[in-house]
Amino acid sequence: MFTLDTPLARIAGIGPGFLAKLKHLGVATIGDLLYHFPTRYEDFSQIYRIADLEPGQHATIQGTVEEITTRRTWQKHFIVVEATVRDDSGSTRIIWFNQPYIKNILRPGRLANFSGKVAVSQDELYLSHPTFEPVSGDARDETRHTARLVPIYPETRGLTSKGIRYLIQPILKGLARPPEWLPGAALRMNRLPELHHALQDVHFPERIEDALAAKRRFAFEDLFLLQLENFAQKMKLARTRAVQIKTDIPLLKRIIAELPFALTASQKRSLWEILQDLEKGRPMNRLLQGDVGSGKTVVAALAAISAAENGRETAIMAPTEVLARQHFETFKKLFSHISAVREPKIALMTASDTKLFYENGLESPVKKGELREKVRRGEIPIVIGTHALLEESVRFKSLGLVVIDEQHRFGVEQRAALSRDARSGRRAKATFTPHFLSMSATPIPRTLMLTVFGDLDISTITELPAGRKNIVTKIVAPENRPKAYEFIREQIARGRQAFVICPRIEKPEQDGAEKSFRAREWSALEVKSVKEEFEKLSTTVFPDLRVAMLHGQMPASSKTRRGLASGGKPNKEQVMRDFKDGATDVLVSTSVIEVGVDVPNAVIMMIEGAERFGLAQLYQFRGRVGRGEHQSFCFLFTESGAKSTHERLRAIVEAKNGFELAEIDLKLRGPGEFLGERQTGLPDIAMRGLQDVELIKASRASALRVIQEDQHLNRYPALQLKLAEFQKKLHLE
Ligand code: ADP
Ligand code: MG
Repeated sequence: MFTLDTPLARIAGIGPGFLAKLKHLGVATIGDLLYHFPTRYEDFSQIYRIADLEPGQHATIQGTVEEITTRRTWQKHFIVVEATVRDDSGSTRIIWFNQPYIKNILRPGRLANFSGKVAVSQDELYLSHPTFEPVSGDARDETRHTARLVPIYPETRGLTSKGIRYLIQPILKGLARPPEWLPGAALRMNRLPELHHALQDVHFPERIEDALAAKRRFAFEDLFLLQLENFAQKMKLARTRAVQIKTDIPLLKRIIAELPFALTASQKRSLWEILQDLEKGRPMNRLLQGDVGSGKTVVAALAAISAAENGRETAIMAPTEVLARQHFETFKKLFSHISAVREPKIALMTASDTKLFYENGLESPVKKGELREKVRRGEIPIVIGTHALLEESVRFKSLGLVVIDEQHRFGVEQRAALSRDARSGRRAKATFTPHFLSMSATPIPRTLMLTVFGDLDISTITELPAGRKNIVTKIVAPENRPKAYEFIREQIARGRQAFVICPRIEKPEQDGAEKSFRAREWSALEVKSVKEEFEKLSTTVFPDLRVAMLHGQMPASSKTRRGLASGGKPNKEQVMRDFKDGATDVLVSTSVIEVGVDVPNAVIMMIEGAERFGLAQLYQFRGRVGRGEHQSFCFLFTESGAKSTHERLRAIVEAKNGFELAEIDLKLRGPGEFLGERQTGLPDIAMRGLQDVELIKASRASALRVIQEDQHLNRYPALQLKLAEFQKKLHLE
């Protein structure tokens, strides 16, 4: 007998080649294999009489091979195996392509099942390329490929559904009844099949309902573990101590009154939710979500001021250097309006050498080591940077608040790195954990909020600041491209600026190997690239305008070490600054400008290969314009004539807000694409479960029940183990 943990290598009859293929699928144990689920089932359960076959049918027949031959087609491209098979009612022809070995298996006189499509040629019916399975004719014969509901598996190169079925059936027979680890109450309340039934039914169901019930159970498994993990994380944080940051309400009111604009109602509400969390003695774990341009930064800045007034530092992390610098500038500008408190010192710290330090209204460069020393001594209340802030050498004296921009949540690693104690460098176990605030403009659909982000508290900015103009959005047909360029030229003549976004940096090399690639790869060659578009726009379309390009392969900034410039090579920092200063008219870029960049004078967002981007992403691109007083425009270009592409893009034109798009994106592309597989760490089946609101609610209720009555799962040792495994998988990202 085997258990789920038995390595497949221990099973007799699986060759090393096959094992390697399985490993490629991430399948090493029997459990892995049995959790490799079919994507669908073919219903071949009924055996038809040959005389009753009808064209177009998917059917199984049982008959004896009368004759079997092979021949080459006249173009010599194919080897055709042709058989005649007879049952009591009559005989039919069967044809296979390029499988000459079949002739050796199905010798004349052999009885077999054949499942496949009934085709018709010159008024004669035949079975085209059926799966087959020799049988004995005994009614108790057990089949796996024919005459039943046949599982169809996701296949990879060289590993067919047939191969997997071949393997799984005997394994299910030899499997010791696996222990049930889901609590009995959860099974009963949600009418879920037990594990050993579910394993049988998901692979070789008697009825399709059994297969569906089994799949529902497996989706539930992951959702349930996810919910348990969320509750566990929440409780863990609730046991951790954090510094209390008290809000000085009258002072805060004076500061808000000094801002150059009035806060929107939901900015105020979000700020209030955050400030209330900061007063508690346990760490905040909150996501601030709001559309592009809804004004998340100022909310974070006000929280940072409050922390500074309490003698605590705030670290603000941005995903790119360009964005970190922009935050730095925004904070400077914001604070210049404020006289109610002494302007806090702000530092910018990124991996490149450009570090700046701001004090008493003056900006001055500072050496990296010196800056780190000041941070360690707690002299700088607000430190803005990239992930460089996570480096071992960066320590804070008394870090009170960490803000991470354009990310949904902190990873476990990031959290640990930021909780390091300033003196010892060890994790601050006995001391304090900072408060965590993440900010994101990608709205999270409700189902994901309940599950993948169930451990977070959420604040939402629901409205844009007053006076924002609607952005005119158009899908532009290829023949109207010249008109669009003409329009851009007019806008630039009026002093405005334009973005052009391309899906890739450069045209892929087209060597011999690549030429023979599949059609999909071919179409990739036609996707517009930044380098080509830059070339075209700067030399042919707009030779008289100032065109620049920006992409991720460019150096982040010029090296200032030892006073050397980087040899005049363009760098991201400089290109972005020029664009912000109005020194360039058109910026051709990849998605590096996706997040957060603020250039109010840019009024045109032109997106090439729009079908290559997710809706939520396109929405964010569009949010780069419409930030100033001028009417703005977004032009979507696509080479794809597909109706589905146009429907998808129409959603952008019509959507009222990002939430709507997020829901559509989730439906159309699934959670994997939406979040990026790595962000969730969830297997496929749970991913599909994420679209099932009822199942999510059920799993949440069951998890809550278990954790409320037995916080440490002492009464559920099997569940405990399973959860530990799941946590490992989840946090391995
Ligand atoms: P996002 O939420 O996309 O990060 P930002 O914080 O960058 O948005 O804000 C976008 C712009 O809106 C900034 O220039 C900011 O100063 C401005 N802003 C923020 N809040 C308001 C408000 N209540 N009224 C007017 N302008 C605001
Ligand atoms: Mg932002």
